[in-house]
Amino acid sequence: MSKTEIPYKIYLTEDEMPKAWYNLRADMKNKPAPLMHPGTHQALKAEELTPIFCEELVAQELDETTPFIEIPEEIRNFYKMYRPSPLVRAYCLEQKLGTPAKIYYKFEGNNTSGSHKLNSAIAQAYYAKKQGLKGVTTETGAGQWGTALSMACAYFGLDCKVYMVKVSYEQKPFRREVMRTYGASVVPSPSETTEVGKKILAEHPGTTGSLGCAISEAVEVATKNPGYRYVLGSVLNQVLLHQSVIGLETKTALDKYGIKPDIIIGCAGGGSNLGGLIAPFMGEKLRGEADYRIIAVEPASCPSFTRGTFAYDFCDTGMICPLAKMYTLGSSFIPSANHAGGLRFHGMSTTLSQLYHDGFMEATSVEQTSVFEAAEMFARIEGILPAPESSHAIRVAIDEALKCKETGEEKTIVFGLTGTGYFDLVAYQKYNDGEMSDYIPSDEEIAASVAKLPKID
Ligand SMILES: *Cc1c(COP(=O)(O)O)cnc(C)c1O
Repeated sequence: MSKTEIPYKIYLTEDEMPKAWYNLRADMKNKPAPLMHPGTHQALKAEELTPIFCEELVAQELDETTPFIEIPEEIRNFYKMYRPSPLVRAYCLEQKLGTPAKIYYKFEGNNTSGSHKLNSAIAQAYYAKKQGLKGVTTETGAGQWGTALSMACAYFGLDCKVYMVKVSYEQKPFRREVMRTYGASVVPSPSETTEVGKKILAEHPGTTGSLGCAISEAVEVATKNPGYRYVLGSVLNQVLLHQSVIGLETKTALDKYGIKPDIIIGCAGGGSNLGGLIAPFMGEKLRGEADYRIIAVEPASCPSFTRGTFAYDFCDTGMICPLAKMYTLGSSFIPSANHAGGLRFHGMSTTLSQLYHDGFMEATSVEQTSVFEAAEMFARIEGILPAPESSHAIRVAIDEALKCKETGEEKTIVFGLTGTGYFDLVAYQKYNDGEMSDYIPSDEEIAASVAKLPKID
């Protein structure tokens, strides 16, 4: 098929949608290090995780050998309401940049929650319901995860308690109202409703909160209330598993037209969209069947991969969650309040951390003003108002396409456009008013929080 016949949007039929998720760990020689008990420093067993997480999700979390895990029909049916998501050829952006590169993006913003997070939310709610639970608790930062989870819980008739990072609760009242419309209760974190929240408030009066604090609160509530479990929207292996639907659809769409990407780019907060997008491609790379350049993009203000340490650390500020071996800035690291662009988590998926450590992928960090410049350009030329998180990937896709313009190389670039930016207009306002600045933490700042990593022998 000639290149000009590639449509602006490559859709799949319902039949072509994946029927199983792909578990990347099955193809990794060096498996990600296991979650560890914060007190005993022993690898956690299933029975120690089931008081916190749903049983089936624990099984998925610990399964590092089964390559394909069937997607239950109920979840596939929900997926059909908003998937397959389109893979778009960015012809207009290419033309604007004057690049010989071919740019594609996988757009995950076509659902009310506005991001890829619904792919895992619906799976997690399904397994909670199947276990006969009353409800789930969670944290949310910018609000996308909480929104996705409230939609999923409403669909399956589960109660949903969301601890929302205080700064977002105040800056994003509309997201809060979407969650409440779907029936969730939303509490600003840190709060007085939990022991750990009270403690954090006593130690840091006036704190605007962090994902780490909110996680601690949500876990406490889940473990203290019978019939409740805690669910997490990123970082965990199970979340990357569910998000593999992004990469599997992308690969099927590209294969239809015989397209082989050279570079695959995704933004990285906790690593779930990136882990999902790259999964089948990384699988080929690990099996020695193909090679791809894979680039994780993170904010310069929260640079876990590029300036973090590969070590066991807490996933939460309250230090009650399991320890995970990951690239981390330290669980006490809180990104500067002027950081508007999401991706605020101090650590990174254990799977991606291991792959990065073993040289299977690259990482780069970008400053938020340059991210919003890319977002503005993309919105004006491709029509979609991108989420600030997604715009990190746009920035690097544009930079790579501009390099191709210099060298004349016709590389194929695929990036993940994880969501829309309608609820991020306070950040856009700052940018439009010229009030956005960049903040890069000093080496001393990072060293201070890394010094507090748990000592493991
Ligand atoms: C949550 C979110 C991210 C970052 O989370 P990952 O787990 O790293 O994927 C990126 N983009 C959007 C739109 C999000 O909502």
